Amino acid sequence: MNFVFLGAPGSGKGTQAAMLAEKLKIKTISTGEALRKEVLLQSEIGKDAKSYMDSGQLVPDNVVVGIIKKQLTEGDCDTGFILDGFPRNIKQAEDLGEMLLLIGKKIDIVFDFQVAEEVLIKRIAGRFSCKNCSAVYNRYFKVLKKEGICDECRSNQFDSRSDDNEVTVINRLKVYHNSTAPLIEYYKKIHLLLPIDAVKSAPLVFEELVGTIRKASIQ
Ligand SMILES: [Zn+2]
Repeated sequence: MNFVFLGAPGSGKGTQAAMLAEKLKIKTISTGEALRKEVLLQSEIGKDAKSYMDSGQLVPDNVVVGIIKKQLTEGDCDTGFILDGFPRNIKQAEDLGEMLLLIGKKIDIVFDFQVAEEVLIKRIAGRFSCKNCSAVYNRYFKVLKKEGICDECRSNQFDSRSDDNEVTVINRLKVYHNSTAPLIEYYKKIHLLLPIDAVKSAPLVFEELVGTIRKASIQ
């Protein structure tokens, strides 16, 4: 089966994609990773993408679509695939539909990993890690056992990503919702969209995901 995973930053969809790919022995295609790979390979399309990235521009739809197409046709996708972070907008979704038609494949389910915005903000903005051993904590969900001391290595030096503060997180979520809300409607209309309650812990979310796929594949 072939899947699209939609979810805001902090929804945990990347983790779920990795778990599902492992279980079903299928491939995960993430836009970011595919881009990095092509840039590294210095392929034509990779060079094209890099020129936009170097000048701080968003990589345009046609380049992103080209990179995904390459992954879908060259990669080992016959047993199935998960698209993680693609499509990002209606144009990309339409291009994806056409591309799949041409290569005789289709999307079976689009999962929407739903997490309330205030939880997403806490998940991302609350995140910090140990400078010494990289252990990851969250000031709301995974607090230090002893204030100011790393559980793992007893270090008292911590790091938080500068782009993870509350204001930038709220902006990132706004950008996500603006581009993805129409996409959710688009997939709803063609009856491919299934919601997943992604507020729960990763193993519980995975259980729901696998159960939903099982139900869908019997129907
Ligand atoms: Zn540590």
